[in-house]
Amino acid sequence: MKKVGCIFCRIAKGDIPSKTIYEDDEFRVILDLSPATKGHALILPKNHYENIYELDEESAAKIFVLAKDLSMKMKGKLKCEGLNIVQNNGEIAGQTVFHFHMHIIPRYKDDGQHIGWKQGKPTEDELEDVRKTIIG
Ligand code: AMP
Ligand code: ZN
Repeated sequence: MKKVGCIFCRIAKGDIPSKTIYEDDEFRVILDLSPATKGHALILPKNHYENIYELDEESAAKIFVLAKDLSMKMKGKLKCEGLNIVQNNGEIAGQTVFHFHMHIIPRYKDDGQHIGWKQGKPTEDELEDVRKTIIG
């Protein structure tokens, strides 16, 4: 499953060269061309899924195992002090390339990056409403 015109399909299948740090039959892991920090990597499935909603469960499970392995490698080889795993779905959430990918972002002291959000202040009732909506 490859989508015509999708840059990450072409990179994942090896049609466009990339700084690959891991590859198997189903995935390619590349260095981000505009890295947030040293070692910022992207896990790309070779099949085209636009986002997490389209991703099948088996691939989803494998991606997290891969993320764990890569994290250990980053920690050991790059000596990062921490690591963020980021995965954006939809333009509103910051997705710019519409082929599922997971960011692995090693973190270092004084790396100048900030990955976070403004904290909300919901009431107990609001939290309970959300809880009921999700499980209902
Ligand atoms: P997102 O905003 O989650 O969709 O992330 C897209 C990421 O892909 C960004 O961090 C870009 O820097 C990265 N990116 C875009 N094009 C390429 C490319 N050709 N090779 C490597 N990374 C890329
Ligand atoms: Zn694609």
